[in-house]
Amino acid sequence: MWAYLVTLSVLGGLVLYFGFAGALYYAFYVRRRDQPEAWKIQPKRFLSQKVHRWAMLIAASNLMFGGLLSGSFAYYVLTGGPVALYLQVDDYGWAYTVFSTVVGFVLVEAGAYYVHRLFHNRWLFRKFHRWHHRCVAPTPFTATTIHPVELLFFQASAFLPAIVFPMWAGSFIAILVYVLLFNIMDHSGIEIRHSFPWQSSSRYHDDHHVHFHCNYGQNLMIFDRLHGTLRRQKRRYGVTVFGGKGTPAGEEHDGPPPFVDYS
Ligand SMILES: [Zn+2]
Ligand SMILES: [Zn+2]
Repeated sequence: MWAYLVTLSVLGGLVLYFGFAGALYYAFYVRRRDQPEAWKIQPKRFLSQKVHRWAMLIAASNLMFGGLLSGSFAYYVLTGGPVALYLQVDDYGWAYTVFSTVVGFVLVEAGAYYVHRLFHNRWLFRKFHRWHHRCVAPTPFTATTIHPVELLFFQASAFLPAIVFPMWAGSFIAILVYVLLFNIMDHSGIEIRHSFPWQSSSRYHDDHHVHFHCNYGQNLMIFDRLHGTLRRQKRRYGVTVFGGKGTPAGEEHDGPPPFVDYS
């Protein structure tokens, strides 16, 4: 059963990723390549062919590695490993299932924020997270272009809520699929606004690749707002400006300037 679950996770991840990212890439980077001003967040910047190929190779390797971890985790759950997930909605009822899906989503988001912020520490950034930031103008294929050590941390932070917080297994899978698909859109380089009120626009993460040490969140901006790491207007950011809060361009007599609007 373990081999079956791992194969299913690896193939599912690859098909979902390359199917969705490929469709976005074809629709914009191939068919509308000559009019980037109309759709691209950074219209003058494209990845070189060399970095593009490298990014796709790393992304594909990570999907296989991630599939191995996810399939093994599913095996652990299905063979009775101690987790808080439940398989039948009736065990807790619909009201709790809806509530716990929302909480589970926020917990996964919290994990992603704090792990990502940790990897923006000076040493970890240079050692590992720099891989992801080679993609200064991200494309749909760069969502999982990260160092494998970092992937381990992100996977662990995503699995942790399922171990400690009672949540329906179907909700947990839906959250992981949601995170993957929105990560692809957030890295697409395409200007996308979503109709979900909680979901930031794709510019929020694209700006993370432009300005480096700010906007650490994944889908929600609540943790960036809470810690003041959301990009602020008039502040300077860049690869050498660590800490997440930028540097003031001048005196800030009226307190810190407002955050940039990414709704
Ligand atoms: Zn980063
Ligand atoms: Zn990114």
